[in-house]
Amino acid sequence: MQSFHPQRRLLMGPGPSDVHQRVLDAMARPTLGHLDPDFQGLMEEIKGGLKALFQTENRMTYPVSAPGSAGMETCFVNLVEEGDKVVVVKNGVFGERMRQNVLRAGGVAVMVEFEWGSAPDVDVVAETLAANPDARILAFVHAETSTGVCADAAELCALAKKHGCLTIVDAVTSLGGIPVRVDEWGVDAIYSGSQKCLSCTPGLSPVSFSEAALEKIRNRKSIVRSWFLDLTLVMDYWEGDGGRSYHHTAPVNALYGLHESLVMLFEEGLQAAFERHRMAHDMLVGGLSDMGLDMFVDEAVRLPQLNAVAVPEGVDEAGVRTRMLKDHGVEIGAGLGPLAGKIWRIGLMGNSARPECVERCLGALSASLAAGHNS
Ligand SMILES: *Cc1c(COP(=O)(O)O)cnc(C)c1O
Repeated sequence: MQSFHPQRRLLMGPGPSDVHQRVLDAMARPTLGHLDPDFQGLMEEIKGGLKALFQTENRMTYPVSAPGSAGMETCFVNLVEEGDKVVVVKNGVFGERMRQNVLRAGGVAVMVEFEWGSAPDVDVVAETLAANPDARILAFVHAETSTGVCADAAELCALAKKHGCLTIVDAVTSLGGIPVRVDEWGVDAIYSGSQKCLSCTPGLSPVSFSEAALEKIRNRKSIVRSWFLDLTLVMDYWEGDGGRSYHHTAPVNALYGLHESLVMLFEEGLQAAFERHRMAHDMLVGGLSDMGLDMFVDEAVRLPQLNAVAVPEGVDEAGVRTRMLKDHGVEIGAGLGPLAGKIWRIGLMGNSARPECVERCLGALSASLAAGHNS
């Protein structure tokens, strides 16, 4: 075997996004023991940074030692008990994954489905909640990465409260790219990922839980069906005032990376980061329009950080992506499920949400489309 030296690509798909050299450098620093006092200080800083990012005072805010899917599973496996009814909003890939999580936790999923590419209709969700007065939880995706649609999280959370439900919110693609206001909205459980708008490497999942969520977990009649993700155990590791107890070995160097990406985000300022994502989006949409390409999602519900572009009639969707990667070193994403072959997904997440990245992506797309016409 030989050492692996990957080429540098510009990552502009649905994640992972472009990782800043400062984050990579941070990860190359000396590994500490995971119970070393210096490392514990770093853990505290990460928790504080994540609280600011989630805009919450929730004590139980920390990064799960695994990718976004594990954060998703942490929320469901802790909050859903045998027989619990969960209303799940689905308008893309990740709503379906939520359903799978409910079933595995022993719950009953009541689905409210919307067309891929459209936003959840709050009135329809309200009808479903009214028709299911025994529902305990409402689960929805804030930023649906498979389509580039933003859900009205404030409205959906308010609705859940009105119907006596807790909320589980997928903020994997939203966190760091658009505002996520956990306390103001009244979110009870939320999960994200390190590799989207935080521009860190994949493999960590920030989560946060409200007091009401913790109360439901404390009152469980049965034990949590996952040992690794059981919050009551993990928290002794991440909280443990006056000495942490061993639960698992934290991915020490990965956490250096997350810490550095948070440092960079707060140096820039959250508001400035949101504005940068918005400006990159406007620039991309303008450039696509100049090329005669149409956006797939209505302007009112578009995410700035995930852009679904309609593939023109007769264009070889996969061929264009392959040329962009091979000839230009730029990665963009394909459509999933019913949108396979119909859209490209261009991510403007974190470090990829910069004018020079947008320019390079537009140039690569334009050249790859032209090369397709000539071949
Ligand atoms: C990427 C993503 C996930 C899964 O995260 P992984 O880190 O790939 O496990 C979940 N939900 C949404 C909306 C995502 O975009």
